Amino acid sequence: MDDKDRTDNRNENGTDGEKREYEDVCFICRRPESKAGKMFHLPNGICVCDDCMHKTMDAVSQFDYQGMLSNPAVLHMLNEQFDQKNGQKKDDGEEDDKPERKIAGISFINLADLAGGGIPRKQKIKKKEEQEKPKPAFDIHSIPAPHKIKAQLDQYVIGQEYAKKVISVAVYNHYKRVATGTMDEIEIEKSNILMIGPTGSGKTYLVKTLARLLDVPLAIADATSLTEAGYIGDDIESVVSKLLAAADNDVDRAEQGIIFIDEIDKIAKKKNTTSRDVSGESVQQGMLKLLEGAEVEVPVGANSKNAMVPLATVNTKNILFICGGAFPDLEEIIRQRLRRQTSIGFTAELKDKWDKEKNILSRVTVEDLRNFGMIPEFLGRLPVICTLEGLDEKMLVRILKEPRNAILKQYQKLLELDEVKLEFADDALEAIAQKALKKDTGARALRSIIEEFMLDIMYEIPKDENIGRVIITRAYIEGTGGPIIDIRSNQYSLGDMEKMNQIEGNAYSD
Ligand code: ADP
Repeated sequence: MDDKDRTDNRNENGTDGEKREYEDVCFICRRPESKAGKMFHLPNGICVCDDCMHKTMDAVSQFDYQGMLSNPAVLHMLNEQFDQKNGQKKDDGEEDDKPERKIAGISFINLADLAGGGIPRKQKIKKKEEQEKPKPAFDIHSIPAPHKIKAQLDQYVIGQEYAKKVISVAVYNHYKRVATGTMDEIEIEKSNILMIGPTGSGKTYLVKTLARLLDVPLAIADATSLTEAGYIGDDIESVVSKLLAAADNDVDRAEQGIIFIDEIDKIAKKKNTTSRDVSGESVQQGMLKLLEGAEVEVPVGANSKNAMVPLATVNTKNILFICGGAFPDLEEIIRQRLRRQTSIGFTAELKDKWDKEKNILSRVTVEDLRNFGMIPEFLGRLPVICTLEGLDEKMLVRILKEPRNAILKQYQKLLELDEVKLEFADDALEAIAQKALKKDTGARALRSIIEEFMLDIMYEIPKDENIGRVIITRAYIEGTGGPIIDIRSNQYSLGDMEKMNQIEGNAYSD
């Protein structure tokens, strides 16, 4: 069998009908087929991805080396490979008789000789077994009503009722437009969202949960690392590149994804600066086009464009952008505005009324955000503004135990595997919440606190097979006592056992 035949006999699964164990790797850019898509199979077992093949052909066509591209045989072979790759039927009988096809392959055989024959085995990547994907909660093509979206979010995100409501409606509208394709006809603005809330209040968590429920790709970027193109830092378009990676380089899927840009308050206009503001106002300017919807050329599988990285064109028209930030000094700006408003006229109220107001962020207006340093054009492209509340002790306790994947449930599940029951006393949960509040990082502190005191439990419990139940007490959290540990044979608490001992002791003394 000559090289040509071997190439032709390849089918979907690889050589000679066998199921291949390893992925094909592009000879030029070294990306595996899971990243680069299906490959062109050239003689001598060489594979070249679609992007590299096009690049090579573009480069070659500029020179038309020795009239190679005007040679119908070469073109024919490449076309045939292309058809095969795209699943088109080829007409074997007739074409195999064509004498010119024998010439095919001359330009590429030498490549293999140069590399010492084929791809080293250690660079091979094992094919992943195709797993059955879990069914998403929603189908974005028949998106459910907002109350259903919120009901799903409720299972994971505690409190933040207003934010969940706003987001459910915005997402419903957005994907309804995407699914019906009415965005062009009526030119309705995209419902990009600006989320304002203190750190650890669940901004990222809300977006992550949403993307998971909708089964759309999600890219999370940090605005602090973005700079105007050409300066040190990530280009603004790198966020789209991240989304493409999250969508496994599937452009269609990426175009319906969600991009979450965190720390958006860090790109506010810098005050009193004389130098060029490359990481502030310029980034806001640079993002305008993306937010509105534009075709961007993004590098596939890399953060920056360079000659070796293939490019893909992504349209951001249907991508939902959610920007989030803590906006630390915004509260003071809002207070000042409210004070100004209330201190004039008969309705004048006490000036310090607003100082005590707890949830002052919920009164934010676009004007406040402009005063903060966001440019009007940028704010205009984020028409939906929602605020998240700072978490109080009660909410933190609920976050510990209520969400579907609550941290306590996770530990309980872990110990359940050792057949140990883990329980938390109510006042112990309050103690954890109080500790977390002191750290001032919202719900984020909860995990580190729990991990700290669960370490001993997780270390000691598996040692003793007789332990059947552990109860975490407030005293244990505060470091003044230990947990209650029950022995498997009799499920009494230590307290009960002490009492029983006392009773027994009394009985004997009688
Ligand atoms: P940020 O607002 O700073 O983006 P995150 O969303 O990263 O905060 O929150 C950190 C962690 O705290 C999350 O991973 C999540 O487990 C937990 N968390 C925060 N807020 C909530 C909430 N409202 N409900 C449930 N869990 C929450």
